[in-house]
Amino acid sequence: MMRPARELVPHPARSGVTRRAALLSALATGASIALAQSAAGGSPADSASSVPRFPANFRRRADWGADESLRFGPDGTELFPTAFFDVQTVTVHHTATPNGDPDPAARVRSIYVDHTVTQNFGDIGYHLLIDEAGTVYEGRFSGPDRIPVFGGKRAGLLPQMCNAAHVAGFNAANVGVALLADLTVQPPTVAARRSLVSTLVWLFAATRLDPVGTTSYVNPISGATRTVPTLAGHRDWAATQCPGNTFYPLLAGVRTDVAARLS
Ligand SMILES: [Zn+2]
Repeated sequence: MMRPARELVPHPARSGVTRRAALLSALATGASIALAQSAAGGSPADSASSVPRFPANFRRRADWGADESLRFGPDGTELFPTAFFDVQTVTVHHTATPNGDPDPAARVRSIYVDHTVTQNFGDIGYHLLIDEAGTVYEGRFSGPDRIPVFGGKRAGLLPQMCNAAHVAGFNAANVGVALLADLTVQPPTVAARRSLVSTLVWLFAATRLDPVGTTSYVNPISGATRTVPTLAGHRDWAATQCPGNTFYPLLAGVRTDVAARLS
């Protein structure tokens, strides 16, 4: 049986196959394998290859103690069932929580309860969080497999992201990564920035987006539009201090570092 015609329409980012696109395709496949191995506790991908490595210090939801029962109502129904969309942008945040945090996993649990219960987002709002030591935490539940962010994979097509809740009105198709810190008057730690870049390399390879590009975003649910850097800061979308006055201008250097790793 033929696939629905809409699935045969090329993704905009894939029109015009170039050597770089072919490379990124290979990287994306390798990245998924590398992460799956890493998350499974297996050996990391061949270090001699150019496959982008997901940060090895990765903690899945079970590792940081996510209480999965919070995502379900009293009758057992999932409050916000997973929904998957092609990725258009990636947005960086800071959590505006105290620096020098003595127990970042406890902070992640606290944010999870706040977003899920107090703010009624159905789950933690971010897809990934990164602490000052560079540890990466799985955020939003994205399905039963071991790979964060993505799910609902369709054979032969780019991976889709699970919808989350980190930029009001602009969540669908927008991946959210948060640095666990207050970056108003200080930059990220060296370790946090290093993990952020590695995480972004993995995300941009998997989605074949351009980290130094601009995106004409269209919300696939509401139709709302906005032109933003493809690798955006929260304040590119809305009036907010996030991701911090000191860090926001440093995003330009993050973009070029990610692009250099992908070239
Ligand atoms: Zn934010």
